Amino acid sequence: MELTIETKIKLNDGHLMPQLGLGVWQTRAGATCETAVIAALEAGYRHIDTAAMYGNEESVGAAIAMSGIPRENIFVTTKLWNSDHGNPERALDTSLRKLKLDYIDLYLIHYPVRERRQSWRALEALRAEGRARSIGVSNFTIRHLTELLADTKTVPAVNQVEFHPYLYQRNLLDFCATKGIVVEAYSPLTKGERLNDPKLVAVAKKYSQAGPQPAASWSRLPLVDRLSRRPETKSTAQILIRWALQHGLVVIPKSANRRRIFEDADVFDFEITVEDMQLLDRFNENLRTCWDPTNAL
Ligand code: NAP
Repeated sequence: MELTIETKIKLNDGHLMPQLGLGVWQTRAGATCETAVIAALEAGYRHIDTAAMYGNEESVGAAIAMSGIPRENIFVTTKLWNSDHGNPERALDTSLRKLKLDYIDLYLIHYPVRERRQSWRALEALRAEGRARSIGVSNFTIRHLTELLADTKTVPAVNQVEFHPYLYQRNLLDFCATKGIVVEAYSPLTKGERLNDPKLVAVAKKYSQAGPQPAASWSRLPLVDRLSRRPETKSTAQILIRWALQHGLVVIPKSANRRRIFEDADVFDFEITVEDMQLLDRFNENLRTCWDPTNAL
């Protein structure tokens, strides 16, 4: 099936999740975050990934309201922070108030802290009430998932983890596939750490921009950006995003820069060959640019 910016993945509870989203961790609350979310919506993104811990839920909500796009057409994720496990219901209420929403599309346990099993039961209740359409986890390893699945009938819809060619978690991906859990790739650009890796640059150089017609999303950029900045080949960031999409992952690159937000969505006019996908798979070096939950008790 051809991937487009509108491609959605069906979750195990029947809801549909757009495969590409904008991450907003470390996007400063206020005008910076509002501008980034508006730019993403203009570029065609319909999925925003925030969290209570990011401190910018109000800005995300304000931008969504400003956009005029119907609520039901935008998929919003937020997360239960570690210090809020005592009362997940109150934590979600606070997030919804800040976001000015009456339901969240996806509510995730942000990190596998000790209280996670009890909190999962609270999330099940929030889903039953409809305040969270889908529920899932983040930073869960196979061990954490196995433990949770032994304790519940509700399989998490999503496991959001760090995932990119330099941290190619094949075993986790296979495990989640057998359980019906969608893997969502965070820090898909390695937080920028490997964007200049010569091996990756060499792959990107093989992929020229499609023909004289820029992709639809790019054509919505101001003319000055289109004329002066669209490079001849795909960027390394675009290769990493496309690699994740072709692996069937949901992917949420972060940018607070309008041009890069458009660039990161301009990944639907080319396809990485099977050989290059395999080459990228071999870049794995177990690089963690964020948390390492391996030993989280
Ligand atoms: P990332 O998306 O891998 O990388 C973001 C960095 O790449 C920023 O410095 C950004 O700078 C830069 N960038 C973006 N597009 C670029 C491009 N086309 N060319 C060059 N540089 C580019 O990092 P991330 O923010 O860690 O991960 C993405 C999202 O995943 C987060 O925002 C968050 O929503 C989620 N996440 C979740 C967890 C969790 O525990 N659940 C952990 C980490 C992340 P500019 O902003 O200046 O463009």
